Amino acid sequence: MQGFQWLRTGVLAALASGAAFAAAPAQAQGALVMYCGVQEEWCRAMSTAFERDTGIKVAMTRKSAGEIYAQLKAESANPRGDIWWGGTGDPHLQAAEEGLTLEYESPVNKDLHDWALSQWKAAQKRSVGIYAGALGFGFNTQQIKQKGLNEPKCWADLLDPKLKDDVQVADPNSSGTAYNLLATVVQLMGEEKGFDYLKKLHKNVSQYTKSGAAPAKAASLGETAVGIVFIHDAVVFAVQGDPIKAVAPCEGTGYEIGSMSIIKGARNLDNAKKFYDWALTPAAQALAAPAKSYQVPSNKNSTVPPQAPKMSEMKMIDYDFVKYGSSAERTRLLTKWDKEVKALPK
Ligand code: PLP
Repeated sequence: MQGFQWLRTGVLAALASGAAFAAAPAQAQGALVMYCGVQEEWCRAMSTAFERDTGIKVAMTRKSAGEIYAQLKAESANPRGDIWWGGTGDPHLQAAEEGLTLEYESPVNKDLHDWALSQWKAAQKRSVGIYAGALGFGFNTQQIKQKGLNEPKCWADLLDPKLKDDVQVADPNSSGTAYNLLATVVQLMGEEKGFDYLKKLHKNVSQYTKSGAAPAKAASLGETAVGIVFIHDAVVFAVQGDPIKAVAPCEGTGYEIGSMSIIKGARNLDNAKKFYDWALTPAAQALAAPAKSYQVPSNKNSTVPPQAPKMSEMKMIDYDFVKYGSSAERTRLLTKWDKEVKALPK
């Protein structure tokens, strides 16, 4: 896909621009309330390192992207959070459009990839890209063999009746991953055929989980044959030797620009800005891989983890973040999915 050269940038070893933060004294410097949208282990690594580097005490909660968006909306009259770090870009864009987050221009912007800044521009400066990752699925090699199936390579393969009740994916209302699937399928196949696909897939789905990455774990344990997830979520289990293979679907697939936003009404606004600048540095972005998160980081000087799926080698759609992150479109698609897909009998 055009514009994907950036993901090929192998990039240099990191650390330089985070050094100032690492040297900061660790005395009490106030607090920061962080809503975190990635995997728990990475969330914890980020909050611990920020506390250590700045002395600012972090109160962190991990939730899925759709849930954090809903929380911001519910708390908008009396905001409790300061920074929303991580999670797919679409709900960040919706929050930006609805005025739930604040404009900010970090001095680190100059070091970011174009795709991270295109998120920032699309959000009218209210959100910025922190990592990118492609959507796909993971399958349990033993389960697929036992069912006498060829290894699935395409979205179409997931409709095989032999996979009845053996596919897991999250609910797009709570999960950014699953909303990314919904928007991807609509863009890849067209809305009518896309919904047709999701209705057929519904027959094979055993459960819609709350969190987007849960189906990867279930596939790694053999609790389901297939889990539709961001590819890097399946890679996590493949690299530790579990019988799971990650797939970039043959028809093409979508991707996410994981994002960060400062919450409007933040009580600890200065600390939110400090975190924002720090989180964009190569030193902070280097915390991902040891926490088993293998996305492509947004700072050009960050090291791309060797385990990160090579997005430049996949067939990618030109995901329209502005359209699918808009409040009207996201609300419309979720309502339609609830009515036409989730409510269907099996
Ligand atoms: N897992 C990984 C590795 C992600 O990058 C993201 C989103 O950025 C998610 C999961 C999203 O989680 P959820 O689908 O639960 O919102």
